Amino acid sequence: MKSLANQQSPPFQLVLPDELNAVVQERKAKKQKPAKAAGPKIAPSKPLDIDPAKLTLAQNTFQIEAGQPAPQLAASQVGPLAVGVALVSFQEAMPFLQSGQLLTAKSLALLVINGPDELPTKLSWASIRFAACCSVNQQPVLLHGHLVQLGAQPVVPVFTSESPGVHDVPVTCARLTVFADQWPQEWNSLEDHPFKQVLQVLPPLQTCRNDQCQCGRWHPDGMDGNQDVLLDVFRRQFFTEAGRPTKHAQANHFSVQIRYLKSQEYALLRLSGQNGVFVEPRVPDASSPSEEFQVVWLPQASFASAQHQLQCEPLGLGLARSGRRMGIRVAARDFQTLFQKLKPEGQFLSPGTRQTWHCGPFPFGSDRKSIGRVFADWKWQARPLQPARPIADGVMWLVQSVADPPQTVFNMQHGQVMISKCDSVRAGMADNGLVIGPQSTIELCATNSAVDPWTFHDPWQQALTQVPVHSSAPVTSHIKELEERLERSILEKLPLERMETDHTEDRIQIMEKQLQHLANQHQALESTVHEHHRQNSAQVQTLQAQMLSQMEVQRSQMANMFEDQMGAVRKSRSQIYELMRLLCFARLLNPASR
Ligand SMILES: [Zn+2]
Repeated sequence: MKSLANQQSPPFQLVLPDELNAVVQERKAKKQKPAKAAGPKIAPSKPLDIDPAKLTLAQNTFQIEAGQPAPQLAASQVGPLAVGVALVSFQEAMPFLQSGQLLTAKSLALLVINGPDELPTKLSWASIRFAACCSVNQQPVLLHGHLVQLGAQPVVPVFTSESPGVHDVPVTCARLTVFADQWPQEWNSLEDHPFKQVLQVLPPLQTCRNDQCQCGRWHPDGMDGNQDVLLDVFRRQFFTEAGRPTKHAQANHFSVQIRYLKSQEYALLRLSGQNGVFVEPRVPDASSPSEEFQVVWLPQASFASAQHQLQCEPLGLGLARSGRRMGIRVAARDFQTLFQKLKPEGQFLSPGTRQTWHCGPFPFGSDRKSIGRVFADWKWQARPLQPARPIADGVMWLVQSVADPPQTVFNMQHGQVMISKCDSVRAGMADNGLVIGPQSTIELCATNSAVDPWTFHDPWQQALTQVPVHSSAPVTSHIKELEERLERSILEKLPLERMETDHTEDRIQIMEKQLQHLANQHQALESTVHEHHRQNSAQVQTLQAQMLSQMEVQRSQMANMFEDQMGAVRKSRSQIYELMRLLCFARLLNPASR
């Protein structure tokens, strides 16, 4: 096959696994050299696939009915007669998931690990977190998996109400940022124990143990039993203005995250902006900013004017600061109200995933406000960011929105305006003087788009020149070689000792079948070769016959022609004789007439 492929023009290069491996090894060797020079690199960790066979479920993790634990089954035991739960990989579970059939009227379930978030099945399933022990060192791990019911009676996790409960109160997280330029004391004072200093100016995070006291600190309520308002302090770090971690002396700000009682959240937010300390509310696991609050940013406002606007604004909860920008924090439900009150000319964007668009052309003299008014007229909630690029008769603008525009082309007084989506703020725009639009769209519309791009950009082109082209050997020797190789590999695989077991019996049968199949194929090939030979010799015979008859015709023609010529020669010779005889007579009769 390889040699046949090589004979094509252009050649199809079939790559054998060992050839591929050789190239891969070669490339690896090349790549490793520069890596060593640059120092050891940490490879990004690939999520591990857990082997279910190496895990044992903890006792009493699942139950069939109340108080009756579900036994753990091996994957191979799952069937109509089994009861219990089997820990399986997604691949093992796939046939059951695809068939979607209940196997039994009793309790049977699969616990699928390494699967996708959503299982493609009609069976009922639930994602759960469970504990399992490593069967090697008996240490427990927590796993995430899907419990899929294969029986009519459900297998359920065991919950107990008898064990002691963990006392839990609503908590929330926040990031506290202290800006050096607003910190009222010496910045040096924050060098040691910075959080302790910051805590001094935040009474809602301090605990007061005096009964019947009215101070601004937090007082433990004897009922719920919590003794401290602050539960955790983490990620203390000094930062540069650009947000890079740095040492205290070069820092622009100090930031720390805290977990504290939710009941103190509003009191803490009200202090945001005082003493150079700003509070950003975050979700309970501190991974992202809380969506309960939004900030109306006031880019032109100084700290004093922002503080004044906050004082006059009943909806405002506190100040926010990002770099040099100030803003007022509000509850998310009040965001639009406050936004439109503080920035009547601004383009309000509701919270959500921002999309970026190229929109235009707009006249060279247009600005954000005028374009914003056009969007409002179109009933499209979008915010013009900046001019993206000038074209022949206007400027394309970069625009941000949460929702798609109502239409993508609008007719305006100065001409048609288009809105086309771009992947990012930096995504380029093609303009060849005649067509203007996103590069990807223009490529799709181009006339030569029907041409197969592989014809010009063959990714294997380079490899093709490097791999030697194998010349083809005669077909018969290939068949012979194949035969020998097969024979050898079969002989190698033939079990010589354990002939008597059913298993080997099966394998022999399978091999016999395969051999039979191969023999059939070989026979077919042979008969094909014979057939070709027969056809060829028939053709040669026909040709021979044709040649013979042709030659016969020519020979007879030649003979005829020769005969004719000979006749003519004979005729002229007899004429010459006649003439000579006449001449002799004439001389005899009259010797003086010479
Ligand atoms: Zn107090």
